[in-house]
Amino acid sequence: MKDVFRKTSSEVLKTLDVTEAGLNTDDVHKRREQHGYNELEESKRKSSLQVFVEQLKDFLVIILIVAALISAFLGEIENTIVIMIVVILNAILGTVQHVKAEQSLNSLKALSSPTAKVLRNGIKEEVPSREIVVGDILYLDTGDLVSADGRLHENNSLQINESSLTGESLNASKDLEPIDEDDVSIGDKKNMVFSGSFVTYGRGVVVVTNTGMKTEIGKIANLLESAKEKKTPLQASLDTFGKYLAVIIIAIAVLIFAIDLIRGNDVVDSFMFAVALAVAAIPEALSSIVTIVLAFGTQKMAKENAIVRKLHAVESLGGISVICSDKTGTLTQNKMSVQQVYVDNKIVEHDQLDLETDIQNRILLMSLLCNDSETVDNKEIGDPTEIALVNFGDDYDYDEKIIRDKYTRVEELPFDSERKLMSTVNKYDDKYYMVTKGALDVLIDRLANIETSEGVSPFTESTKQEIEKVNKEFSMNGLRVLGFAYKEIAEGENIDFKDENDLTFIGLISMMDPPRTESADAVAACIAAGIKPVMITGDHKITASAIAKKIGILKHESEAVEGFEIEKWSDDELKEKVANISVYARVSPEHKIRIVRAWQEKGNVVAMTGDGVNDGPALKQADIGVAMGITGTEVAKEASAIVLTDDNFSTIVKAISNGRSIYANIQNSIKFLLAGNTGGVLAVLYASILALPVPFAAVHLLFINLLTDSLPAIAVGLEPHDKDIMKEKPRGINTPLLNKSFALRVLSEGLIIAIATLIAFHIGLSTGDHMVASTMAFSTLCLARLFHGFNARSNQSLFKIGLFTNKYLWFAVILGVVLLHIVLLLPALQGIFKIAPLNAAQFGTIYAMSLMPLVVIQLYKVLVGKVNLVK
Ligand code: ATP
Repeated sequence: MKDVFRKTSSEVLKTLDVTEAGLNTDDVHKRREQHGYNELEESKRKSSLQVFVEQLKDFLVIILIVAALISAFLGEIENTIVIMIVVILNAILGTVQHVKAEQSLNSLKALSSPTAKVLRNGIKEEVPSREIVVGDILYLDTGDLVSADGRLHENNSLQINESSLTGESLNASKDLEPIDEDDVSIGDKKNMVFSGSFVTYGRGVVVVTNTGMKTEIGKIANLLESAKEKKTPLQASLDTFGKYLAVIIIAIAVLIFAIDLIRGNDVVDSFMFAVALAVAAIPEALSSIVTIVLAFGTQKMAKENAIVRKLHAVESLGGISVICSDKTGTLTQNKMSVQQVYVDNKIVEHDQLDLETDIQNRILLMSLLCNDSETVDNKEIGDPTEIALVNFGDDYDYDEKIIRDKYTRVEELPFDSERKLMSTVNKYDDKYYMVTKGALDVLIDRLANIETSEGVSPFTESTKQEIEKVNKEFSMNGLRVLGFAYKEIAEGENIDFKDENDLTFIGLISMMDPPRTESADAVAACIAAGIKPVMITGDHKITASAIAKKIGILKHESEAVEGFEIEKWSDDELKEKVANISVYARVSPEHKIRIVRAWQEKGNVVAMTGDGVNDGPALKQADIGVAMGITGTEVAKEASAIVLTDDNFSTIVKAISNGRSIYANIQNSIKFLLAGNTGGVLAVLYASILALPVPFAAVHLLFINLLTDSLPAIAVGLEPHDKDIMKEKPRGINTPLLNKSFALRVLSEGLIIAIATLIAFHIGLSTGDHMVASTMAFSTLCLARLFHGFNARSNQSLFKIGLFTNKYLWFAVILGVVLLHIVLLLPALQGIFKIAPLNAAQFGTIYAMSLMPLVVIQLYKVLVGKVNLVK
């Protein structure tokens, strides 16, 4: 639609064939068919076939295939077929892994996709933003993302941040007037809103004029970079590590090839063996195993109310050492109820209000008028602080809708957590009154008079002290306090923030928001896990401290500070003090960023919760930004790595526990892979250096790779989470996954596997039949690597974690054992897999040897566990 900005919004509605009741369901379907979904096109996903072909494109795999083909030309056709089959099976397995991981990531993405509020069939409803169509009537509130382009139809002080389109970081104020000019830039189209921006203040209603790729952002965005998640830091470092490892392994393979040649072995055979060794020993699946384990982990977390929006968050979660949490709704229930009212110089209990007394009646009326919340069919809609007031009115049979109809609102200045005030102008007996409510410490400096039943008198220092005393008393009981004031204004006068002055004080209303029942336990769990919980709130310091004390965050009052105090400190001073502060009250979003930075500079990994429109930068600055799913704005969700669907602090603690376990599982899975590969390489090196016959055929190595590199490694990564993981301290920020002790373990476990394999090999060699020896070495290595999965599950012994607690591993191991035996026992396969038939004693040797690493390593774990216990 062209030149929408020139038209009035009613003309736009008409042109788009939309009524004031919005579109009906039929219209929506038709328009969607015509314009498609409201989404920016992403570059096409790879098909499974493409993924499969990519698996085969690996440089070493290509060389292997070429070598196998050459060998076929030279007559070894059987060998070639088997190698090709194993290579293809491996590629299929890789493809399944890749597709599975991608599917779980996509379902995760769907969970956290943004929503929008639209009017359809006359009813306001919330729909996924991608379902918006041209002509939809879209509601915008502070903190909402604008998800389509539209013409403004109603405006309540709407201000929008359009920096993603215009580069301008200042908010753009919107108005309804048509613009009679040509060539108007986006920034100057004041009667329009654009997809990709967000509402920083006020409210509005717009008619959608363009969606998807036709929006302004769609025109500049072209294709989204890629649908694929970027690699996480862990995956990136594993990739680098994998490359170094590949170089070492290829060097070993070249060395072995050279030795074989010098010994006069067949060139093609030797070459194929060397390449197979490289293919089998290079853990190319590292990164994709990490994705799978992360993706499975995030599914578990989603079930436990934490939706991971950015995969890398899972890695950092385990390292978190500080959680900066909002109070209201996160640590508390966000279910407020009015407790006491201070009016006419006295405190009145919530059920003792005397409505016959004019001033007591009026504070109740004002609390319903300067209020945007309501109950519809017993459903509470809006801000809990205001709902408490609506319920309070209900207790006295005051219906907020009837009251609001009677004293119509003509203007408003919405609440924002920086100003901490809200004002409305209501018509009252042909007069206009501005009613202001908000935090007392802000309101108190704007008061000129006080009203009691005696009449209106000037606001003196002594009245101020008296009111502050009452405020303190309320706050010390953990109550939230709202001050109420008003003034008369002239008809038609437009108000702005400057008018929130010269007010007449009428009273205070205090309300209770009890801590969540889980909060105290979750805080205790944090402390036991070496994580510092910190409360950051917009509420009053005394209220915040009282709640913090109740749930164990604060021990002494001196640990609480207010935002204005931080402002006086330099960044260095804040850094020095930050460890001793547990409660920050009356803070603004800028303070939050400084607090996060101060902790980070002290070497901490920080999680920060947020819900407001201005919390975005702090959520991004934190190592893990955590947004509230229920009360959070779309902007906060967009900026965060994790969204809590229940807004609950204890969910963060659960997520950290999951993060730690997932990290440990990934570490174990990698250890499993590397130790097994090391075992194989050491065995080959040993035989080669001692001029023994080659212990394995090329196809043996590939077969072992097939059986052990995917399924058991993933199964180790899916180990049930360790209940004791939160008894440990957080992982240090600089502790790499692949550290010295990790390398030592891999090498020693690999060595034990190699020794077991070589003992079986030597026993086989003593029969004088090389084929028997190599069959025994192959079987032992294969089984030992499978059984080693049980070692890799945990640092603790199987006696402690239970032998049968990881059913995935049992499945993977049993499948591996069965497949191996099919190859060992089926005469038809024996030939092509270069297998000699074995007798019972030889089978016994294989089993004894392949179980040996399991027994030795478990014994070690039991003994070390004992030593630790003695310590
Ligand atoms: P947090 O969620 O960070 O713990 P909060 O939700 O308690 O903080 P805000 O919502 O920013 O913080 O509220 C700050 C102060 O503003 C409150 O202490 C209260 O005095 C006042 N306030 C809160 N809600 C309203 C409202 N709807 N209208 C007027 N004033 C309000």
